[in-house]
Amino acid sequence: MIRSKRPWRRFKLPLVSNSLLKTLRAKVRRITCLLERKYGVPYRKGRGDPIEILIQTILSQNTNDRNRDRAYQRLKTQFPHWEDVLRARTRTVIQAIRPGGLAEQKARRIKETLRWIKNREGEMSLAFLKKMDSDEIKKAIGDLKGIGPKTVHCLLLFGMGREAFPVDTHILRVGKRLGFIPERMSAEKAHQWMVPLIPNKKSLSLHLNLIRFGREICKAKSPQCEICFLSRECIFSYQSNFQISPLP
Ligand code: SF4
Repeated sequence: MIRSKRPWRRFKLPLVSNSLLKTLRAKVRRITCLLERKYGVPYRKGRGDPIEILIQTILSQNTNDRNRDRAYQRLKTQFPHWEDVLRARTRTVIQAIRPGGLAEQKARRIKETLRWIKNREGEMSLAFLKKMDSDEIKKAIGDLKGIGPKTVHCLLLFGMGREAFPVDTHILRVGKRLGFIPERMSAEKAHQWMVPLIPNKKSLSLHLNLIRFGREICKAKSPQCEICFLSRECIFSYQSNFQISPLP
């Protein structure tokens, strides 16, 4: 089993006063409500297979959804069972997932992850995680090389129906513009930062709606500020490039 050189750890986050924490919680609650009013309340269409979620999230690193889906489809077409991936030569797996980018690195991670699963319980199943609480799962899976907080939070949220909040590139950008994630914070740290801010049982709703908002309105290069329904919460004025944040 290959373990990360930087095993799952808790980051040192900026200190915030109780009153600022309260302000941020209220802000995130208002944003969650406004997003639900506009986009509706997303619901779970059943739980995905945890191994599928894990592999898809590895494939999604540094690429867009379209390329990830192409790479995943090719992988599943060529190797219908996860054991097949494990038995295959690494270069064949690399060829299969090439459209997702970073194919050499991802192929190695996928094979190492599948080998770890198989060796741990003697079968290709993550069913053993059901008995663990979320912190134990973060430690068990998050210590694997190449598996970061986003992958683990995706597994918890989409593969296991737990409360967890993956921070992707859209959420990081929008969270900073709306002022609930500090300007210089990394996505890795933001996973831990967001834990006390998510309204109860709203992680799925906030995660999916913020991504939609980031894709449709608060785009990276050309945010549609003139039609933005969250502008009152925004600390970022794109035109004047003027930012004020109460965050450390
Ligand atoms: S006002 Fe503009 S920058 Fe602010 S959240 Fe809305 S789209 Fe994004």
